[in-house]
Amino acid sequence: MKPVEPTSETVLGLDYSSPSLFVDNHGNTANHPKFYRQTETQLAKAQRKLSHRKKGGKNREKQRLKVSKLHEKVANQRKDFLHKLSRQITNAYTAVAIEDLNMRGMAQGLYLAKSTNDNGYGMLKTFLAYKLAEQGKQLVVIDKWFPSSKRCRFCQHENKKLTLGDRVWVCPRCGAELDRDENAAINIKNEGCRMLVII
Ligand SMILES: [Zn+2]
Repeated sequence: MKPVEPTSETVLGLDYSSPSLFVDNHGNTANHPKFYRQTETQLAKAQRKLSHRKKGGKNREKQRLKVSKLHEKVANQRKDFLHKLSRQITNAYTAVAIEDLNMRGMAQGLYLAKSTNDNGYGMLKTFLAYKLAEQGKQLVVIDKWFPSSKRCRFCQHENKKLTLGDRVWVCPRCGAELDRDENAAINIKNEGCRMLVII
């Protein structure tokens, strides 16, 4: 496979986002399709119903089977979606920069747990890695200590006071108003370009 030379316009930066999988450096998100959300809702309902069924009863067994089928359906839909998404990204870009996230650590943060476990960010990363490699393209993994969110993309000031709740912030040094996720994705993209030695 002949390696594809990356250019700064064709490197994509992805910042992990809890509700929407990711935000990229153009400010686009990757929300799961509606049918996936619908199956998820069905699954939650079926699980609730199961919890009310009498132990050892025939109906409980039936409901248990229904829940396990829905589980499988959700998993398949997610996998399918992530395959299509990673294919689209691979075809459209020459390299993808992504943060090396500690998913287990993130899943332990209570309110992030559900989305983190559900949305398969790790799976997307795996799919991207081999699909890009198949086309002679690269996945650039950025160190997890890289201050992607805290750094102002205009003046490089590091805002140590930034908290998880700050979705939009104003840089105390240059006064730029920054959308947290988009700013982070642009920093990730720039760091990726630096690592790929694109001037
Ligand atoms: Zn600034």
